[in-house]
Parts: sequence; structure tokens; C-alpha cells
Amino acid sequence: MSRQLFDYLVIGGGSGGIASARRAASYGAKVAVIEASRWGGTCVNLGCVPKKVMWNAASLSEYIHEAKGYGFDVKVNSFSWAALKQKRDEYIARLNRIYENNLDKDTITRIEGLARFVDKKVIEVNGVEYEGKHILIATGSQAWIPNHPGAVEYGITSDGFFDLDYLPKKVAIAGAGYIAIEIAGIFNALGSEVTLFCRKDHFLRTFDEIIYNTLMDEYRRVGIKLVMSSKIDRLENHGTADKKLLEVKYTTADSPELQTLSGVEEFIWAVGRSAKVEPLNLGATDVKLDEQGFITVDEWQATSSEGIFALGDVCGNIMLTPVAIAAGRRLSDRLFGGMKDRKLDYTNVPAVVFSHPTAGSVGLTEAEARKQYGDDQIKIYRTKFINMYFTVFEQSQKQFTAYKLVCAGPEERVVGLHLVGRQSDEILQGFSVAIKMGATKEDFDNTVAIHPTAAEELVTMR
Ligand SMILES: Cc1cc2nc3c(=O)[nH]c(=O)nc-3n(C[C@H](O)[C@H](O)[C@H](O)COP(=O)(O)OP(=O)(O)OC[C@H]3O[C@@H](n4cnc5c(N)ncnc54)[C@H](O)[C@@H]3O)c2cc1C
Repeated sequence: MSRQLFDYLVIGGGSGGIASARRAASYGAKVAVIEASRWGGTCVNLGCVPKKVMWNAASLSEYIHEAKGYGFDVKVNSFSWAALKQKRDEYIARLNRIYENNLDKDTITRIEGLARFVDKKVIEVNGVEYEGKHILIATGSQAWIPNHPGAVEYGITSDGFFDLDYLPKKVAIAGAGYIAIEIAGIFNALGSEVTLFCRKDHFLRTFDEIIYNTLMDEYRRVGIKLVMSSKIDRLENHGTADKKLLEVKYTTADSPELQTLSGVEEFIWAVGRSAKVEPLNLGATDVKLDEQGFITVDEWQATSSEGIFALGDVCGNIMLTPVAIAAGRRLSDRLFGGMKDRKLDYTNVPAVVFSHPTAGSVGLTEAEARKQYGDDQIKIYRTKFINMYFTVFEQSQKQFTAYKLVCAGPEERVVGLHLVGRQSDEILQGFSVAIKMGATKEDFDNTVAIHPTAAEELVTMR
């Protein structure tokens, strides 16, 4: 069988794969990208992009309901989830074409189909073999569903959430990570009755306590039912295949006898993601996986198989689009651009939760900083207040904003910043630059505030 030879063979046309391929092509490398599904990967098709559209709709719904506080007499006559979905899907189809066109413009060969290794440097797609001098695995991750009775049959994942063509009246979500929290917030703001099941006693467990404590209070205040320290036992459908009416059978730490949540139209599993490696036939290579099944790489994104690299979600380390993109571009700078020392620094990566309100973090949590530096080296500044926007509302409608600065050492270097409150998503980016540059509390204090904003609290903390 004749084989096409490429300088760089990239498996996965998602965030990391496309970014790395295009950067490699800009240096004149002969590049091919293999994609089994839709161009753009998870972020464009089933992640950040459709999620942000839904979050925007949910935020708009919040503003409409809050408008009364500002004297507007507004009534929502109807909301069409289906119309929104259609517009969203059209936008994504446009993005798919933009990704294809960009790859074509860069004279990158696009190969459509499922890639599998037949040898260390040889990949087969639809019966055709391709050889790469360098190979990148950027195949991403997938949501997993536990093995409980009815779990797969009646539950959906975030992929299914984006497939829904109606707004369910009553939903249940299992999970404690950002995807579960975001979906819960969207449904609630759009008017569904929401129950969130979490295995432990708090959600967003990798975030600082100020974020999860403030958000848990807020989610309860707006009527999301949080069932903490709970275990799902099974899902039963008492409706039909077309119109589900689910019973969620579960236990909690406080009450180990089986309890039932009835009348649930959709149940969403957001309990974790696993690496998409199965179809790759990695047995033909020396690529090694860690205990959770993610590909093991060194700081240069090199796997244990010579000439094979991996990055993004498939490696399980900070599963975010800009991380996959940054790692991909740096890898190509090094392999094809002659920049020998280029690699991604995985510290101080900002992360946002598109909850209601949004939350964001950069650097160490208070607990991590205390462990790393010792209690006597850590100084914490925190504030909790009602954003001026809410002052005209009834007491019960007021939402808290909370910020925390984690400072280390005698110079009080800011090693962690944690925000929860409206616009935290937009506030965090600029502060991340300062923190990446090594800003101290004094630098924050020396910065003149912007008034009246919520963010000004960050430079006036005592
Ligand atoms: C619901 C949700 C919301 C999210 N929101 C955000 C957000 O707001 N911000 C953010 O930064 N990140 C967000 N993410 C995470 C983000 O989408 C991922 O971190 C990012 O897409 C990872 O990029 P990647 O290149 O590693 O993989 P992907 O983008 O998943 O791309 C992998 C590609 O490889 C293809 N593929 C897999 N196996 C093969 C094979 N054998 N042969 C050929 N092709 C193959 C897949 O079809 C896919 O297109 C979200 C994720 C989800 C699920």
C-alpha cells in the first residue's frame, strides 16, 4: 500500500490540533489534520461556543426579570428554545466552514475519518495509510456515564444538552464540576425546575472555598435544589421513549434509604470526562497512559513513544481550549520554528465558570498556598458585598459578590485571585496578566480604582 508522508500528522481537528497544525504550516511544514467528526472539535461544536450562547440567553432572561427593579414594566410572552437552538446551530455550521477554509488556505491536507495507528509512525484512515515524521495526538475527551441501571438509557450528557430541542420543565443534573454548575445555572435562569446531585458536600471542589461557598448559597437562593453527599442508584422511565418522565432513585449520607425525585424530563450526567484514545490503537506505539487513562506527556508534550506528541484534553491537564491552543502553538514553534525552549507554562492559567453569577480563579487556592508556603507566609484579603447594580432590588433579590486575594511571603506577592460575582469572567483576564508578571499587594494598592465598579474592590482591599 502506498503511503503519503507528512512532516506533521495531526490527529484531531479541535482546538489544540488545528492551532498546532496551522502554526506548523506557517513555518513551511507539510501538514495533514485528521478529523473523525466536525471541524473545530469540542469547543466549537459541543463545548465553549454553544454553551456561551445558552449562557447569554440565560443572562438575558435574568436581566429581563430584573428590569422591574429599574422601573421597566416588562413581560416575557414566550421564549423559544427551538428558535435559539436553530440560530446557535447555524452559527456553529458557519464556524465549521471557517475552520475548513482556514486549513485549506494554509494548504494543510484535511483527512476526514477515524485515525488508528498501524505502526509507530503510520496511521490508517478509511483504508489509506499516512506516515508522519512527527505525529500529534489531540483527540480530546468525552463525557462518561456511570454504570447504574437506566443511566445510559435515560440520561444524557452535555452533548445531549446541546441536542435538546425544548426547554424541560424539570431537570436533574449529576456532577460537581464546572459543566454541571453551568448547565444548572442556564436551566434555572430560563425557568426549569433544577435539582443538582453532588457526591460530596460541596461542588467546584478544585476551586477556592470562597467560590463554592458563595455560589452554593446563591444557587440555593435562586431555588436550585442542591442534594449534597448523594449517590444516584438508578433512573427509571415512567413516561414513553419520546416523552420521558423519569424517577431518580438516590441515597444521601444523612438518609441511606432510597429516595425518589419524580417527574424529571431530562437527567444530565456531568460527572467527569475520559480521554478519547480507544479507537487509536495505541498498542501499536509506545504511548503510555496514566491511571485515569489520559496520555502521559513530559513538559515538552512528548509521549513515551519517540516522535509522537500529545496535548489538550487527551492529556487531562487543565482541560480548557486556550490551554490546548497555547500548548499546540508552542509545540510547533519548537518542532518547526527553531524555538528550542518553547513550551507551555501550566501555572497561573486563569479559569472561569459561566455560572450565574460567573466565577473565576487564577493561581493557587488559599488551601494550596498554605500547603505550599506555610501558614505564616500567607496573608488573605477578602471582601463580600452587594454589587451596586442590586441596590434598587428587594432584599431577597440581592446577590453577593465575593473576592479573595491570596498573598505569599513578606513582599505579599499575589499568588491567587478568586472572584465570584457578575462580570467576574471579564474582570479576571487583566488581573491574570498582573499576577503572571508577579504583582504584589502593593502593586494592586498603587493602582487607582475605577469607580463605580465591582472590580475596584480588588485594588482597595484592607
Ligand atoms: C460542555 C463543555 C463546555 C466547555 N466550556 C469551555 C469553556 O467555556 N472554556 C474553555 O476554555 N473550555 C471549555 N470546554 C473545554 C474545551 O472544549 C476543551 O478543553 C477543548 O476543546 C480541548 O481541545 P482538544 O484539542 O484537546 O480536543 P477537542 O477540541 O475535543 O478536539 C478533538 C478532536 O479530535 C477528534 N478525534 C477524536 N478521536 C479521533 C480519531 N481517532 N481520529 C480522528 N479524529 C479524532 C474529535 O472528533 C475532535 O474533533 C468545554 C467543554 C465542554 C464539554
